[in-house]
Amino acid sequence: MKFRRQLRGIARALFHLALVAGPIWGLARASQTAERALYAVLLAGGLALLVWAAFVYWPGFDPLFRIPWRGPRRGRRMAITFDDGPNGDQTMTVLRLLEQHQAKATFFMIGQNVERQPELARQVAAAGHAVGSHTYSHRKLNQVSLAEAAEEIDRGHAALAAAGVADARLFRAPHGLKTFAVMRHLVKRGLRLIAWTAGVYDTDCPHASVIARRARRWIRPGTILLLHDGKMDHDRRPMTEALESVLQLAQRRRIQLVTVPQLLGWS
Ligand SMILES: [Zn+2]
Repeated sequence: MKFRRQLRGIARALFHLALVAGPIWGLARASQTAERALYAVLLAGGLALLVWAAFVYWPGFDPLFRIPWRGPRRGRRMAITFDDGPNGDQTMTVLRLLEQHQAKATFFMIGQNVERQPELARQVAAAGHAVGSHTYSHRKLNQVSLAEAAEEIDRGHAALAAAGVADARLFRAPHGLKTFAVMRHLVKRGLRLIAWTAGVYDTDCPHASVIARRARRWIRPGTILLLHDGKMDHDRRPMTEALESVLQLAQRRRIQLVTVPQLLGWS
């Protein structure tokens, strides 16, 4: 799964790069004005498509630099984020582990799950962790109309508000997929889109040791690490087992685990 997804990403990047490289190559060889003008138009189109594709598929990419994907590398702080919850016992285990290691984290919750477990959502917030929304039902926001995307975003936040969770105005897009229109809606609503430095593909449910090994190199200042405590029917035990060693390693490396707003100096 991991490699297939990476391969698809590389193929997409190569395709869009070719749309830019092709016209550049043509431009260099063209001798006539009309020919050069044609390649220049193609190059402009290719560049626009490249920026658009990067914006949609690259979670932390924004030509206007509005999307944090890591914190300051100076200092000794990093942030762990948990997506797709809250998720019953799995989230409880995460809370217990975080407390044992005096760590704070950030939870991007799915509205539907919040509606099913409002008490748990409140408990996460009450423990001092930051809580943000991860849409209402985890739809890919680049594959639905703007109206549907806006509803996903607004209902997700409404679910948190209804559960009585203090709104941190944080939002994470499912799979990091976004469009320019979605971004405009988020800005209008005063929501901050948060990306991540590294994911460890824990949703593929590899063995705990695999998750821990993938995470190891990212336990360093400034990282925003992506993990998952949801969804409802996923067995997250490999992740929670790996979390234990991630927290221990952070302690050994003297890295303090803080919320995303703390890491970014927002609170
Ligand atoms: Zn997700």
